[in-house]
Amino acid sequence: MIDEKVKDEMRQLIDKINLYNYHYYTLDNPIVSDKEYDELYYRLVDLENQYNFVFPNSPTQRVGDVVLKNFTKHKHEFRLYSLSKVRDFDDLEKWVADMRKFDPSTNFALEYKYDGLQLVLEYENGLFVRATTRGDGNIGEDVSLQVKTIQAVPLKISYTGRLIVQGEGMMTKSALKQYNKTAEIPLKNARNGVAGAIRNLDPKETAKRKLDFFCYSIIFCEKKFKTQEEMHEFLIENKFNVGNFFHICKTAEEIEKFILEVGEKKSRLEIDIDGMVIKVNNVSVREEIGWTNKFPKWAMAFKFEAEEVSTMLKDVIWQVGRSGKVSPTAILEPVELAGATISRATLNNIEDIRKKDVYVNSRVFIRRSNEVIPEVLGLAEKYDNSKKIEEPKTCPCCGSELVKKGPLIFCPNHDGCKEQIVSRLTHFVSREAFNIEGVSEKTIIQLYEDLSLRHFSDLYKLTKEELINLEKFQEKKAENLLKSLEKSKKIEFSRFLYGIGISEVGIKTARDLAKNFKTLENLQNATFEQIDEIEDIGEIIAQNIFDFFKNEDNLKEIERLFDVGVEILSESGPQSEKFKGLNFVLTGTLENYSRSEMTKIIEENGGKTSSSVSKNTNFVLAGAEAGSKLDKAKALGVKIISEAEILKMLEED
Ligand code: NAD
Repeated sequence: MIDEKVKDEMRQLIDKINLYNYHYYTLDNPIVSDKEYDELYYRLVDLENQYNFVFPNSPTQRVGDVVLKNFTKHKHEFRLYSLSKVRDFDDLEKWVADMRKFDPSTNFALEYKYDGLQLVLEYENGLFVRATTRGDGNIGEDVSLQVKTIQAVPLKISYTGRLIVQGEGMMTKSALKQYNKTAEIPLKNARNGVAGAIRNLDPKETAKRKLDFFCYSIIFCEKKFKTQEEMHEFLIENKFNVGNFFHICKTAEEIEKFILEVGEKKSRLEIDIDGMVIKVNNVSVREEIGWTNKFPKWAMAFKFEAEEVSTMLKDVIWQVGRSGKVSPTAILEPVELAGATISRATLNNIEDIRKKDVYVNSRVFIRRSNEVIPEVLGLAEKYDNSKKIEEPKTCPCCGSELVKKGPLIFCPNHDGCKEQIVSRLTHFVSREAFNIEGVSEKTIIQLYEDLSLRHFSDLYKLTKEELINLEKFQEKKAENLLKSLEKSKKIEFSRFLYGIGISEVGIKTARDLAKNFKTLENLQNATFEQIDEIEDIGEIIAQNIFDFFKNEDNLKEIERLFDVGVEILSESGPQSEKFKGLNFVLTGTLENYSRSEMTKIIEENGGKTSSSVSKNTNFVLAGAEAGSKLDKAKALGVKIISEAEILKMLEED
């Protein structure tokens, strides 16, 4: 028996889902993320299952797309479906076992779940005749003119019988980036980009987005196929783009291994995939298993953890970085995403803010993939109290008039702006730079305020007497700081270069510079072209480096560092070849070394490190609170070692 309260909740869910469907399918402009949509959708599915009650207008009973009036309608000859989804590996294993009941020896085709717009292409006598969208599964839109602009869609194929294929219209990440560079209103993501482009009445607009097409199924062909594998080969023979991932798996474990592997590398792929699709390979077994009114029972989607979510943008703060650049940061209503609580996200600059059309007190989409800093993608919803974000004219820290360079703003007060100086000094003492232990940003602020610390070299002039007079600075702390400063004076070239804070020079660029120029003198005398020539160093960063060494103040400060005893050591080359040919992945917190120190040890002994676990990983070095990388290593059977074990490996002959 179902009571009215539950029915009410179901009605509310249906209303909300239908509203979101309208924005997503009709306007191609969603107002909530897929994560939030899926939560509501699954809640409705759960209630329907629990109470065995379904409203006739429930979105769970139909394929969601809407047919736009402006397009010619096309009635599909064969009904089109959506995909059922499992939410975890337990459910996946249950589904695999269910499929086995039909045929104990069945195997499965595993494909990417492309996150684009489904398209159906028809061919007659070897020629393209029509392209349609999925629509509501029965009726779709004729988008032939638009689809003809996609280079990857063959207009002529070698097979001359009647053929209907299914695939996904896609926009690659680089096409999206390129398009957004000049777009008046940037696209929030590639999926919206492709849906909006194909369902645009002007094919010239479609062509501008440089779409792609990935083909994954044959709906009809006069030639008969026994398996998905045979269909896949036929598509390749006829020059359809089938992507570069297709595997036949025998067991759930095998499927899970691939899912973990792809999940790890998906943010580095050129296209957006939102999961994997698993299909019973044998066509005759499929017939036996059948369809529901919404999806085939013989196929299943496994969705990856969402990378996008919407939340409220509460405020924007402007912060001064070590090079004087004043950058906006979005302060967000905290939200869970990809295993972390996000309360801040990058906004880049004022042009970015205007293009993304976001406001204080508006709902925005944010994205976080792997270890990348969360980014604001664009507007989800604007409200009556939404406020325009103003660009500051004066420095939020020192009040100096800001200087504009293109879309960027800078505080010119290099030697007088506290935030700039503190940020420069904090960078200087950081682990990968001069590694001065026990000095936090808070300590730097204290030294700035109480002992007028301004330049890097001032650090080396601090005395014990001065330090012990500071609040919370007992003798021991003062002694440790002085010891650490003394130790830091002998420093490798790359760390020195990183520490002195050249704009946009990270540790990798610093290492590249050290490797190429060997000495500071060589680098100081290098021409712009010589710096620009180095692989991975772009024009802007090369200019920053070149300018840095032409600036008198910077040169004076370097001299002062030498005067107080700083000495550059030559970059150490490999000390041994013990780890030659071995790939390591580091995860969790190590006991005695930072991850970057351990990376260096591995590299110095001929090994390589990478950020993700794959079949090519030899060892995963796991410290405390190791997370998903450790799980992946276990699933892939990669050897897991501790910090003590790697150090022992080094000692062994
Ligand atoms: P879906 O996108 O979750 O999965 C089915 C589709 O996957 C197929 O129709 C096909 O187009 C595609 N696909 C990609 N690779 C494939 C492959 N290898 N083999 C077969 N099919 C493949 O389902 P749907 O019905 O298109 O859309 C529902 C989803 O859309 C929701 O789960 C939600 O994430 C999203 N949605 C979001 C909102 C929103 O407001 N954010 C609104 C509506 C729907």
